[in-house]
Amino acid sequence: MIEDISASALPRTASYVPDQTARRAVQEEQARWVSVTMEFRCNLRCTHCMIEGTMKQLAPTDGADFDAVLRMQAEQRPWVGLVLTGAEITLRSDLPAIVARAAEAGFAHIRIQTHGMQLHRKPYLDRLVEAGADQFFISVTAADEATHDAITKVPGSWRRMRAGIDLIEMHHPQVSVITNTVITAESVDALPGVVAEFRNHRCVVQHEFWNFFPMDPVDQKALCVPLPRLLPPLRQAIAAARLAGRKVEVKHVPECLLGTDADVLVNSQPHLVIDENFWIGFDRNGFHTCPHRAHCASTECLGLTTAYVARFGDEAGLLQPLPLPPD
Ligand code: SF4
Repeated sequence: MIEDISASALPRTASYVPDQTARRAVQEEQARWVSVTMEFRCNLRCTHCMIEGTMKQLAPTDGADFDAVLRMQAEQRPWVGLVLTGAEITLRSDLPAIVARAAEAGFAHIRIQTHGMQLHRKPYLDRLVEAGADQFFISVTAADEATHDAITKVPGSWRRMRAGIDLIEMHHPQVSVITNTVITAESVDALPGVVAEFRNHRCVVQHEFWNFFPMDPVDQKALCVPLPRLLPPLRQAIAAARLAGRKVEVKHVPECLLGTDADVLVNSQPHLVIDENFWIGFDRNGFHTCPHRAHCASTECLGLTTAYVARFGDEAGLLQPLPLPPD
């Protein structure tokens, strides 16, 4: 049965405790992946970019550090999958060679995390797939060309990204796509549309929705979305994705507000190999701000960020702690 989302998006009673089984399965799978950040340039200028101010100071993982990851995989097989990411990893001209080295080291799955702009060039896409890439994690910032290009600030970025996904669909039946949409004031209304846009694409197996947080205690660009405004379109998108048989992951939304969709909240990620300086900026977000934290049983929730509370308050009347187990 499909829940009445409009009525339940803002639960007023805190009686729902989600089943942890599905979430644990996702976390166990994530623990079998490693993510390596190998490029800090980008040729889009997305409004929501978390590292736009620090990109030039961050050093990509390469050389001996990447060799160490490959050597560990070759010798001990700790992981099943590798995520190659950046800012924008496809700006590396040696990406097909990197993928081939990873496949040779014994990674069963290799995921390219990208804005998707280069995938419309079929020979390039074919080279990546032939080298061993079998998953693409693609940033779909909105559900239409005008909104996507306005967010990325690069005309044509939607057209090229969409053409790339169509090429995967047509020519690479063994390759899967995960879409990722950052939820901001610019994209929040597009969430159900993102699912609808790819309703006929076999290759799209999962939709991810990451609630925006600035790496700053202040929401300088006014991109955070008030939670009462965010939940209805988010839960419509989740319902549509489930109906389409897709997996869903949501990040950085308070668990207590997701009702029967709380099982899709998974804030963990594969082990990330990245310049240590990244975490200095990351820690400025001030997660775990929640007036009910001490009385809430959630082990997954990150609460609110400092920037959100500064704009919209601590939502004390909206957030509902999950009941603690009896002593
Ligand atoms: S920690 Fe706060 S925001 Fe998170 S589920 Fe508990 S009450 Fe809700």
